[in-house]
Amino acid sequence: MNLSETEKGISGAAVDRFADIQVLRYEVPGFEMLPLRQKQLIYHLSEAALCGRDILFDQNCSYNLPIRRRLEAVYTQYTGDRDNPEFLALETYLKRLWFANGIHHHYGEDKFRPDFSPAFLDEQLRNFPDPAADRFREAVYPVLFDPAVLPKRCVQSGDLDLVRASAVNYYAGGLGREEVEAFYARMKKPDDPAPLSYGLNSSLVKRADGGIEEQVWHLGGMYGKAIEGIVGHLERAIPFAENKRQEAVIRKLLDYYRSGDLKTFDDYSILWVGDTASEVDFVNGFIETYADPLGLKASWEANVNYIDKDASRRTRLISENAQWFEDRSPIDPRFRKPQVKGVSAKVINVAMLGGDCYPSTPIGINLPNADWIRRDYGSKSVTIGNITRAYDKAAEGNGFHEEFVWSEAERDLLRRYGNLTDDLHTDLHECLGHGSGQLLPGVDPDALGAYGSTLEEARADLFALYYLADDKLLELGILPDKEAYKAEYYSYLMNGLLTQLVRIEPGKQVEEAHMRNRQLIARWVFEQGKPARTVELKSREGKTYVFINDYRRLRDLFGRLLAEVQRIKSEGDYRAARALVETYGVQVDPALHKEVRARYARLNLAPYKGFVNPRMYEVRDKSGQVVDIRLDYTETYVEQMLRYSRDYSFAL
Ligand code: ZN
Repeated sequence: MNLSETEKGISGAAVDRFADIQVLRYEVPGFEMLPLRQKQLIYHLSEAALCGRDILFDQNCSYNLPIRRRLEAVYTQYTGDRDNPEFLALETYLKRLWFANGIHHHYGEDKFRPDFSPAFLDEQLRNFPDPAADRFREAVYPVLFDPAVLPKRCVQSGDLDLVRASAVNYYAGGLGREEVEAFYARMKKPDDPAPLSYGLNSSLVKRADGGIEEQVWHLGGMYGKAIEGIVGHLERAIPFAENKRQEAVIRKLLDYYRSGDLKTFDDYSILWVGDTASEVDFVNGFIETYADPLGLKASWEANVNYIDKDASRRTRLISENAQWFEDRSPIDPRFRKPQVKGVSAKVINVAMLGGDCYPSTPIGINLPNADWIRRDYGSKSVTIGNITRAYDKAAEGNGFHEEFVWSEAERDLLRRYGNLTDDLHTDLHECLGHGSGQLLPGVDPDALGAYGSTLEEARADLFALYYLADDKLLELGILPDKEAYKAEYYSYLMNGLLTQLVRIEPGKQVEEAHMRNRQLIARWVFEQGKPARTVELKSREGKTYVFINDYRRLRDLFGRLLAEVQRIKSEGDYRAARALVETYGVQVDPALHKEVRARYARLNLAPYKGFVNPRMYEVRDKSGQVVDIRLDYTETYVEQMLRYSRDYSFAL
């Protein structure tokens, strides 16, 4: 295995930093090697992925596009001193607005407060002697500068009418929650086994006469101009479809964009979930409903991706050997499964992010959302390899390891193997760990009560940790050598004993199941290994570090704890579960907690991260024939945002 596969220093490179945001670059590994036909498919789908950007801006708040366009004009035509604090404040505001696809924080939902003054903006607007500038001043200034106007994008709870209190543009004309709920309640049929996603692709507007009208987002309807752009590029993708089914998927999506018919959307989703043969795949449409206070209306999102063959080969190999691992698991043979089936996870790389997947993006996809389609047709669940890798790479360069890792020897381990063994840990945990083992006959699966999920995560983690150090992984060609597993052992203990404490507020204990599990495992092996000094907490200049003396003995400890956790689960031993979790998983050492938080705070890391896309372009020969699709990774965040606003903007 070639560890340096695509290492060009692109993945995870820092592109910009402002407010609480860091913008990174992701690399699209192996793109150059794809057949031209696949590249062209990706190209046209990628163009379609960029065309819906303005839809999302408008969905998030009706003032977003007027504000973005006016401020972009001011920003690009500004001739004054670019170090002027007022100008810099305007630049930061604009960067935040681009990142959030609007004037409210993408995660916290609160409206941004500009640090530039109305007087400064007035002065700049004088350069635009058009009537629209005057209207902007009158209509939009309160939205920009008054914190009481449209303070929150989406209000999810509280005493207020959630619909009226939210700034999102899904409801207009003074509609209230009860009116909206009554409107959609009338559409639902009782006991419908295949209900439509009512309201998913429309705005609801109360007219002057009191009537309520649904304005559907489709070609010729609301957002029709942007949808025209999307549809045009999807049509151009059709000749490059990999097979008949994928062609049918694209054609069905086109039907849906043309008609806005939700039954067609369900038909499309069923076709899409059944297309597991295509190597290139995409999401493009009104999908997730998180930003609607009532969870009905979907924001527009897109991504284009293709299978990561190396990573998917890894999960397939693990899964094919599931029985081998199960038969040798260091647990009581009575608790082993006679017939075990591994789960094979698919790993993908994204080539383009759009709409609500950009610049902030999830690291996995699990769709479709309709419960009855999931029940009857299944779902696609994938992890996004190159985004995960970019996060990992960014973490290496931010001073975190310099601060918390004991010495250069451990840092070197982490640099060389850390990403691979971290991915492999996840694979073993998901593909084998949860599915291994069995309950004794008659044992209630819920016997461990509130401790059940912590113990279940511990079981899967321990299975992964134990087998990471097994020669079988070398034999399968998944790990390169006998040193590699040490990287995961070190980072797991460092996280469980020290660094995950940064996420706990002062005075609090560990609550979340995954975090309890990690501390439980790390603390248990630390305590049990004390006589032999297997793992130590060393102090240097007032700072605490993890030091591992004996990695082989540590593996034995993981195996012993796995045997005990499996016994607890198989026998439903509630008292032992409680004792284990309460003794090792919950309590926080206040002095250590304080120290770790202080060290972390000094690193000054951005809490939120997002990405710029590569610039993707066609290369043509003299006759105009497309001979290649290339990627350019040099664009800055500001350049990309301004280019998107110029090239993918539609009069909505
Ligand atoms: Zn899990």
